[in-house]
Amino acid sequence: MSPEPGRQEPPSNLSHAAPLVDGVDVRTLPKVSLHDHLDGGLRPQTIIDLADEIDLDLPESDADALGAWFEKQSNSGSLVEYLKTFDITTAVMQTHYGLARVAREFVLDLAADGVVYGEVRWAPEQHLGRGLSLDDAVEAVQSGLEQGVADVRNGGADIRVGQLVTAMRHADRAVEIAELAVRHRDSGVVGFDIAGAEAGFPPANHRIAFDYLAENFLPVTVHAGEADGLDSIRGALFDGRALRLGHGVRLAEDITIERQDDENIYVSLGRLSQWVKDREITLELSPSSNLQTGAIAAWGDELVDHPFDLLYQLGFRVTVNTDNRLMSATTISRELALLADAFGYDLDDLETFQVNAARASFLPLEDREDLVETIADGFDEV
Ligand SMILES: [Zn+2]
Repeated sequence: MSPEPGRQEPPSNLSHAAPLVDGVDVRTLPKVSLHDHLDGGLRPQTIIDLADEIDLDLPESDADALGAWFEKQSNSGSLVEYLKTFDITTAVMQTHYGLARVAREFVLDLAADGVVYGEVRWAPEQHLGRGLSLDDAVEAVQSGLEQGVADVRNGGADIRVGQLVTAMRHADRAVEIAELAVRHRDSGVVGFDIAGAEAGFPPANHRIAFDYLAENFLPVTVHAGEADGLDSIRGALFDGRALRLGHGVRLAEDITIERQDDENIYVSLGRLSQWVKDREITLELSPSSNLQTGAIAAWGDELVDHPFDLLYQLGFRVTVNTDNRLMSATTISRELALLADAFGYDLDDLETFQVNAARASFLPLEDREDLVETIADGFDEV
């Protein structure tokens, strides 16, 4: 029995205080989610239910304890350790029912957090263990997403979602996955991504897939500048033709702080960071995740050390994302509240991040303009 659609309590591991900025509950503000992994956003109880059906052993059998286990595992500071938690989530997402249920709940949880448009990324090639084909898997996720959207609308709220189909960068199926993405572009897929171990697996390895996507005009985002540095970002832009960078946080390595006083910070930008800034290539930053995976280790180990604020103040097109809500025990509202707390942002700053995300979404131009308007209206109301 599902709770009332669109008005659900957040998963039990998200028992944080209300995310307030300027006295406003951030959950009530319209938001856009660009970087959110389907296999990183499961409800703990759903993992337990689905594991039971396939006799899969879990490290914890209680939803709260399991949620806490994911958060603890993900705090290791290593991307490789962090990625191991996905062995469990993907294991329970190998059937039509499992994929559709997770996708539906994903939409409900986004809506409960005030997200009005979300792009959901996942790697179909990791969901073929129990007989599904790539197309079956995409269709199963799409059916769950559509059910979730319908449930949210029945509950009186509104949300739109699109799929980003991901190829795993260490595997050799990117051409097949690119073709899959293009095949489903009129039935829910809005773009393509590559994910997984970044260092040692450059976008150039998948050049044929990226050429195919470019020839078919399907938008691309590439995980880059998370576990590897500037060369990886260069590869994402020039081999992958990425329109957005998945995290891209290590682009800050290309920014030199010359001097700083109380009022201003004086910097020089390398050619790469200058290009990303001038061309308004969007950075899909994920504050909590970036801390957990060690992506910002060069700058420190607390949120206040994150180069998010430097990038924002310099005029880069920054967006705020969750990456994996289960692993980081977070939501977009919580990430925004954490940033506001660390850097003193007000609601105008938060609105800028949402408008940035709306403009960078892989929707057609008119839809993006509508989205910007929805955001402006929502922020005007408070
Ligand atoms: Zn990611």
